[in-house]
Amino acid sequence: RIYKRQMICRRDIDNLNVPFLAIYESLIPPEEEKVKQKQLLALLEKLVSKEWPKARLYIYGSCANSFGVSKSDIDICLAIEEANMEKSDILMKLADILQSDNLQNVQALTRARVPIVKLMDPVTGISCDICINNLLAVVNTKLLRDYAQIDARLRQLAFIIKHWAKSRGVNETYHGTLSSYAYVLMCIHFLQQRRPAILPCLQEMGTTYSVNVDDVKCAYFDQVNRLGDFGRRNKETIAQLVWGFFYYWAYCHDYANSVISVRTGSIISKREKDWTRRVGNDRHLICIEDPFEISHDLGRVVDKRSIKILREEFERAADIMQYDPNPCVKLFEPY
Ligand code: ATP
Ligand code: MG
Repeated sequence: RIYKRQMICRRDIDNLNVPFLAIYESLIPPEEEKVKQKQLLALLEKLVSKEWPKARLYIYGSCANSFGVSKSDIDICLAIEEANMEKSDILMKLADILQSDNLQNVQALTRARVPIVKLMDPVTGISCDICINNLLAVVNTKLLRDYAQIDARLRQLAFIIKHWAKSRGVNETYHGTLSSYAYVLMCIHFLQQRRPAILPCLQEMGTTYSVNVDDVKCAYFDQVNRLGDFGRRNKETIAQLVWGFFYYWAYCHDYANSVISVRTGSIISKREKDWTRRVGNDRHLICIEDPFEISHDLGRVVDKRSIKILREEFERAADIMQYDPNPCVKLFEPY
């Protein structure tokens, strides 16, 4: 595979900018969806505060991190201090409260890896999952949203990569492929690595935002509007970046030794993290460090079978970007 590293980008690559941007635009959720989400959140807040006046609801995940495509479900976190109540009892109680108010399909999934209450609001047609006290997800949602404000190319790239991953069936953690969250981190890392860099490393800059969540210190520079037009010296276009992204994961990443790390804005070694061998179910075949829970490898869901599928998909995509006459169609063909 090494010989392909010398490959250079096709000459007509920039003809793909217009169609890629059109795909991106078509995926952006319309304003009225945001309005409906707010409406549902307000209803849930009203119901929850009757039972627990001090509890708070936060939207996290793709509806709040700016990487959500149209018609996403919403992820909500209930922040509550109920020292005498088990999480599963809180969920059951929550399900009771919501059931009595016309919400549909209310279900408490107390044994799931992340226990949640699921529901559907018949007024807005929106489905939502509510978890309890998962505040790290609320904070990593903010980090992603802050990165998205620095350079428009991040949101464009991530939408295209997520759309590709969903079309190709490689965005399913229960089948051993990667979560949307992992793909967005891969995009951020990739843009931090371009020269000149398109994104800075916010966690290596002076802290302007700091919270402690479950004994994890989450601190970074969040005044991103003060960064001006950070990536302006890099003129790479969206088509070049999509090509570069797939090319990196197909032919350049050192799967045997490297961990990508948004936290440090660089690559770190598996050895340094002690991620060199399988421990329990964690195989570390592709390593993506969580920016805050640094002992957490988002690639841990990937197994021997799915790493092969993933790498073949990266190669397929890189080759399409290189040679196919119509990459904007071929790339997203259902598998
Ligand atoms: P989609 O549009 O596919 O629903 P999403 O951004 O909502 O994308 P999910 O993978 O559903 O992504 O995850 C929702 C949120 O949960 C993420 O944005 C992130 O904040 C958090 N999250 C998901 N997986 C993890 C994980 N393994 N570790 C930490 N936080 C995670
Ligand atoms: Mg989601």
